[in-house]
Amino acid sequence: MKQNFNYHTHTYRCHHARGLDEEYIKAAIAAGFKTLGFSDHIPYPNHNGGRMRMSYDERLEYYAAMKRLKEKYKDLIDIYYGFESEYFEEYHDYYFEIKKEVDYLILGQHDSTLEGRARFFSDFRKEDYKDYERLCIKAMHTGLFKVLCHPDYVLLSVNEYDDDLLRMFEAIFKEAAKTNTVIEINLNGLERGKGYISGELTYSYPNGKILKIAKDCGCRFIFGADAHYPEKLLHFENDIRTFEKENPTRFITLEDFKIC
Ligand SMILES: [Zn+2]
Ligand SMILES: [Zn+2]
Repeated sequence: MKQNFNYHTHTYRCHHARGLDEEYIKAAIAAGFKTLGFSDHIPYPNHNGGRMRMSYDERLEYYAAMKRLKEKYKDLIDIYYGFESEYFEEYHDYYFEIKKEVDYLILGQHDSTLEGRARFFSDFRKEDYKDYERLCIKAMHTGLFKVLCHPDYVLLSVNEYDDDLLRMFEAIFKEAAKTNTVIEINLNGLERGKGYISGELTYSYPNGKILKIAKDCGCRFIFGADAHYPEKLLHFENDIRTFEKENPTRFITLEDFKIC
C-alpha cells in the first residue's frame, strides 16, 4: 500500500456523511490501513451545527464512541480521533481548549465566519482571497494543525487561474513550508469531476497545477480520503492512481507520518 494511514474521516454526526463508525473501521482494515484517524467537523459552543457539524454537546458521545473503538480494534488498527477545524479568529482560544480533549486537529478552512455557509467552497470570489490567505496563515502559525486540508478546493467555484489567486496560494504554501504544515492531496475532490479552469479541463481539486506551487515552495504532502462514507476507504489506492495518472508532476508523499 502506498500510504497506510488516513487521518481525514468523517462520521454521521456531521449530518452530511453516512455509515456507522465501525463500518469505516472495517473498510479501513479491509483496505490494509494501519492507522485510521477520525476527523469529523469541529463543533462550536452554543451552535447546533446545522448540516455541517455536530453540536457542542454531541462531542462527548463522539469521544466515548471513539475511545471504545480504539480499545476494541487495537490489535488490528491504530485509531485516533480529533476534528477537521476551521480557524475563525474569534475562536482562537477555543481551539487550544478543545485540542486538549482530542488526539489531533487538521485545518479545513471552509469559510471566514461560523455563520457562513461554507462559502470558500461554494462561492469563492476575488474579494475572498485575502481572508482565505490570512486565516490559513494565522491558523498554521498557532501550531495546532499538522495538516492543511484541501487548500485547492476553493477552485470548485473559480474558472480562471488569475495572478492574484496564484499569489495567494504561493503565500499560503510558503508559510506552510515555514511552519512545517503538511499539505493534503484530497481525494474526495475526484468525485466532483472535472471542470474548465482557464480553458483547461481539470479536477478543481486535487489540482496538480496548484499543488505544484506547494511543491516548489518546499511543502510536504500526504493523501487524505476525506471519507464521508465507509467504502471511500476501499477506493483509496485507486484514487491515488487516478490522481497520479492525471498529473505529470511527481508528488513525493510522506510514507511515515504521525499526526500525534
Ligand atoms: Zn473540509
Ligand atoms: Zn473533510
